[in-house]
Amino acid sequence: MKTTLIIGAGGVSKVATTKCAMNQSTFGNIILASRTKSKCDDIAKEIKERTGVVIQTAKVDADSVDELVELIEKVKPEIVINVALPYQDLTIMDACIKTKVHYLDTANYEHPDEAKFEYKLQWARDEKFKKAGILGLLGSGFDPGVTNVFCAYAQQYLFDEIHTIDILDCNAGDHGYPFATNFNPEINLREVSAKGRYWEDGKWIETSPMEIKMVWDYPEIGPKDSYLLYHEELESLSKNIKGLKRIRFFMTFGQSYLTHMNCLENVGMLGIKEVEHKGMKIVPIEFLKTLLPDPASLGPRTKGKTNIGVVIKGLKNGEEKKVYIYNVCDHEECYKEVGAQAVSYTTGVPAMIGAKMILEGTWSGEGVFNMEEFDAKPFMDELNKQGLPWKILELTPDESFEVI
Ligand code: NDP
Repeated sequence: MKTTLIIGAGGVSKVATTKCAMNQSTFGNIILASRTKSKCDDIAKEIKERTGVVIQTAKVDADSVDELVELIEKVKPEIVINVALPYQDLTIMDACIKTKVHYLDTANYEHPDEAKFEYKLQWARDEKFKKAGILGLLGSGFDPGVTNVFCAYAQQYLFDEIHTIDILDCNAGDHGYPFATNFNPEINLREVSAKGRYWEDGKWIETSPMEIKMVWDYPEIGPKDSYLLYHEELESLSKNIKGLKRIRFFMTFGQSYLTHMNCLENVGMLGIKEVEHKGMKIVPIEFLKTLLPDPASLGPRTKGKTNIGVVIKGLKNGEEKKVYIYNVCDHEECYKEVGAQAVSYTTGVPAMIGAKMILEGTWSGEGVFNMEEFDAKPFMDELNKQGLPWKILELTPDESFEVI
């Protein structure tokens, strides 16, 4: 029987762990470990009630390679699924190298003291993964993750040449709070308050935060303001999609979210450097996280849908071709199935599928890989089976669903 170790016990972990339990013939014994063991126990209890599967739990500080190695040597997993925070990517990768165990994550490494995420330090571990004979799968969430697989599917099965890609992330869910984030607030706010960036003709073009706005008419949702952001899959896709001329990323934000974010930024609450308060050192964004609703608590109150996908333009048989490949996910349906809202669901399900690809040998190799480097078809088939069905909207070259 195989053994799977999952690290982190937040909203994404709850979904990934539940989905692994629902696919127990692949994942075998499942151990859930995190900094706060009681959160693992709460998830395990709910999974037992929901699926009958028993999940073992453990405490681990994933900032410590030694603690991770000790745990991995004790439970002997085939794979470690990292759904803690991006700050822990490198320590968990290093522990996997030492113990020769496959690795998967959903977000690329970021240092807590610098709001900048990039693949450099994770890609730099490629040789060590090769020497250890293990596979490291980076960014197996929805975006990054499924969006990379959609692009790979287009390259491998739909187009002869891809010229432009626009990745669209629309969350039309309503949780009823004036301001809350749908995944870890610290990571979310660092991402959206940063400068925007897109890639065109081999160069990165930087924009002010939220400088470029477009309105896309999202299928099954309707028109929504969408803002250009830098997002991590742009870094790998601009390298791996051959012949690409431009790639951009857009995310929807409501006016209330933007007003709150601007205000918090203006008063310094998004700061990541320590400040002194009554003789104590505090990091403003960490304090803000304490005040904001826990994303995991949004599940029972969120209504509405997400629509995430990729608009791809290029050539097929010498003719111009344009498609939108996308998934629509309903917050309330997700809550019914696994007790979590759609943002956790759309991340946790692909984390499970990526691990399934590795454990069943469908995706194999030694070294560190991004999602688009594998055959997209088996992953796309699993999306349909595991709760994230996708659709392809064929557009004529002049037809568009962008309003502005
Ligand atoms: P949460 O904050 O809800 O959960 C993070 C978990 O990691 C918590 O249980 C936390 O423990 C644990 N953790 C943090 N530090 C450590 C540590 N040093 N040792 C052990 N455990 C630790 O985050 P989410 O579930 O919302 O997000 C999880 C990941 O998913 C993030 O990396 C996020 O960026 C990524 N993500 C990816 C998306 C994609 O589409 N690719 C979309 C959304 C999220 P504690 O409970 O003690 O705080």
